[in-house]
Amino acid sequence: MVKTRFAPSPTGFLHVGGARTALFSWLYARHCGGQFVLRIEDTDRERSTQPAIDAILESMQWLELTWDEGPYYQTKRFDRYREVIEQLLREGKAYKCYCSKERLEKVRALQMAKGEIPRYDGHCRDSQEEHSPDEPYVVRFKNPTEGVVAFDDMVKGHIEFQNAQLDDWIIQRSDGTPTYNFCVVVDDYDMGITHVIRGDDHVNNTPKQINLYHALGAPVPVFCHVAMILGDDGTKLSKRHGAVSVMQYREDGYLPEALVNYLLRLGFSHGDQEIFSREEMIELFTLDAISRSASSFNTSKLDWLNAYYMKTLPRDVVGRELAWHLEREGYDLTKGPGPELIVAQYAERTHTLKEMAQKVRYLFEDFDSYDEKGVRKWMKEGSVDVLKAAYAVIEKLPDFNAAALDKALEELAASMELGMGKVGQPLRIALTGTATSPGIGDTLVLVGRERSLSRIAAAIDHFGA
Ligand code: GLU
Repeated sequence: MVKTRFAPSPTGFLHVGGARTALFSWLYARHCGGQFVLRIEDTDRERSTQPAIDAILESMQWLELTWDEGPYYQTKRFDRYREVIEQLLREGKAYKCYCSKERLEKVRALQMAKGEIPRYDGHCRDSQEEHSPDEPYVVRFKNPTEGVVAFDDMVKGHIEFQNAQLDDWIIQRSDGTPTYNFCVVVDDYDMGITHVIRGDDHVNNTPKQINLYHALGAPVPVFCHVAMILGDDGTKLSKRHGAVSVMQYREDGYLPEALVNYLLRLGFSHGDQEIFSREEMIELFTLDAISRSASSFNTSKLDWLNAYYMKTLPRDVVGRELAWHLEREGYDLTKGPGPELIVAQYAERTHTLKEMAQKVRYLFEDFDSYDEKGVRKWMKEGSVDVLKAAYAVIEKLPDFNAAALDKALEELAASMELGMGKVGQPLRIALTGTATSPGIGDTLVLVGRERSLSRIAAAIDHFGA
C-alpha cells in the first residue's frame, strides 16, 4: 500500500512551498487509495515553537488535507531513536567519536588548504583507544567508503553520489540527541512510508539517508524531489512576492479551494487545464506529471481562481468560509442574513471574502452616519418625499421579495415621473449608509422588512430636518 507523509519542521508558519509539498503528498496517497501521515519534525527544540505547530495543523485542516495517521512528534520518539543507535553501535554500523573540536578544526583547515572538500577523516572509525565513561562523544554512522549510492528520483531522474564524497556523519550529538537525517530515516522506516515527496532542497540528504536504510535492512522508499517555487521575477520566492503563510491567505479572503487549485498548478499540469475540482485532482495526480523545472508564483492567477470559485462553488460552501470572515469583522451573525444569501448577492461584486465581509457591515450593525459623497450626489430636494412614498409602498406590499419590491418601486418611480436612480439611490443610502449595494429589491431583502422600514424612517428624520 502506498503511504506518503508530510513532515514539516515547525520553525515557522506553513507557507506556500510547504503547503504544496503537503498537497502533493496527500494527493498521491489519495490517488493510490493509500495513506497519508502527518509528522512534526520538532527535534530542533530551539527553533520549533508551539504556535508554528498550531498554525501547521490549522492550515492543513483549512486546506482539508486530512491525515490518516499522526500527527507524530519526533520529540516523543527519542527512546526509539536511542534504541536504533544502540543497535547500530552493537552491529558495528556506527561508532563513537571522541575527536575534540580542536582536532576537527585542524583537520578541516588542512583539507581546505589542500583544496579538498572538508569531511571527517575517520579517525575514530577503527580506533581501539580506551576512553573513560565520562568522556564526551558523538555517534557517527559508518558510511560506505566505496562505490556509489544511486536512486531514481520520480521528478529528477537518476541521481548518483560517490560514497567517497560522503563522510561518517553524526547521528547522535554529544548531548545524546539524535540528528535530523537520522530521525527522518527511522521515522519513514517505522511508519512504512513508501514514497517520500519533498522539496528538492533535500536532494543532498538523500544519499546519506539511503545508506542508513541499507544499514538498517530497511526498504528504501521512492523519492520525489519537487523543484522549488520562484517569485514572478525569477528570484527565490519570498514575502515580497506575496508568498505568505497559508493562514494569511485565509485572512486575506481566499477560498481554500482556490489556494489548493493554485498550489496544484505550481508544478503539476494536465494539458492546459487550469481548474481542477478536488475529485479531479485526485484522479489525475501522478508523480510523473510533476514538472522538473521550478514554477513561478503568480498572484494574479490566484486572484483569478479565487474569483472563479467564489462564483461557482455552492453558496453554502462559500458561505461557510464567509462566516469566518464575518466573525472576524466582529459582527453578531444572528443580526444579519445567512452568509449564503450574502454570497448570492456579492460573489460577483467582490474579489475576496474579506472584501465581501467588509462591505456588508450594514447587514449586521446599525449606523448613524451616511456616506457624504453619496449624500451629496443623491439626497436632493424631493428625496425625502421619495423615501416617504417608498416607505408607504414597501409597508403595504404583501410579498417582501426582491422581484415584487423591484416591480413596486419601479411603478412608484414611474408614477412620480422619476428615473429609477432617483428612487433607488436615496433608498440605498437609507438602507446601507452608502450609494452602492446589490439591486434595490435584493438589498431590501438582505436588510429585512422591519429593519428596512425603520432605516427608511430614520433617514426621513435625518434628512427631513
Ligand atoms: N522537516 C523537513 C522540512 O520541513 C522535511 C523533511 C523531509 O520531508 O524529509 O523541510
